[in-house]
Amino acid sequence: MEINLNGQVAIITGSSSGIGEGIARSLAASGAIVIINHSSEHSKDAAQIILDEILLLGGRGMLVQCDVSSEEEVQAMFQKTIETYGTVDILVNNAGLQQDAKFVDMTLAQWQKVIDVNLTGQFLCAREAIREFLRRGMNDKSISLGKIINISSVHESIPWAGHANYASSKGALRMLMQTLAQEYGKDKIRINNICPGAIQTPINKSAWDNEASFKALMTLIPYNRIGKAEDIGNLAVFLASDFSDYITGASIYIDGGMSSLESFADNG
Ligand code: BGC
Repeated sequence: MEINLNGQVAIITGSSSGIGEGIARSLAASGAIVIINHSSEHSKDAAQIILDEILLLGGRGMLVQCDVSSEEEVQAMFQKTIETYGTVDILVNNAGLQQDAKFVDMTLAQWQKVIDVNLTGQFLCAREAIREFLRRGMNDKSISLGKIINISSVHESIPWAGHANYASSKGALRMLMQTLAQEYGKDKIRINNICPGAIQTPINKSAWDNEASFKALMTLIPYNRIGKAEDIGNLAVFLASDFSDYITGASIYIDGGMSSLESFADNG
């Protein structure tokens, strides 16, 4: 099965590192035009390096700086993309962060920041994407009107002590995704969640960068390896393609079996 995304325009939020970077590289390698989104001036250089490498390999795309929790900036990102490439075909709602604390010590600022980026950010981007899909109408690049792929987490269903803000944001993403899939299925818009387990990226460095933590992490993963951003990229390419045309409203776990384990109190 060879997937060709055929010049489809894909916005990947938070793609200057980690899982977002992996997805951007995989989509670009499959023929999509990629919008590499980074949140601030601070992440610009990293995003530029990724874009340069993609262009060097014959891919297409551009950078857009945008904080996904800002309505104004999200609207400007979509506008710039549509001005440059005509439309948006694929949205990968990936931008997300953790601000971990014991619940009794969690500040309102920590709670709010995680909800703003992880949940409100996906709301704002999905809303702009669906508006654009409906405005554009069908094109000949895909048999669906548009695809939204949300990067959720195994913690959309696995409780996670010490991470109440993060787990709450991810749990809410499941209902957001299912509700939108229900509401826009008749328009031929497909919306799904990818639920990664432990993927080796900066967000969970403390879980893999020393031997003791890594060993503890492996006890949670039946397949006995940590995930790579490319694992998620491969799934995103499939979900963006017409090969997955009958998949919508689904949460797909990609976690080496982690979500089949019960105990999850002190690691991850
Ligand atoms: C978190 C990671 C964690 C993984 C498994 C992800 O959603 O961002 O920090 O390693 O879940 O617990």
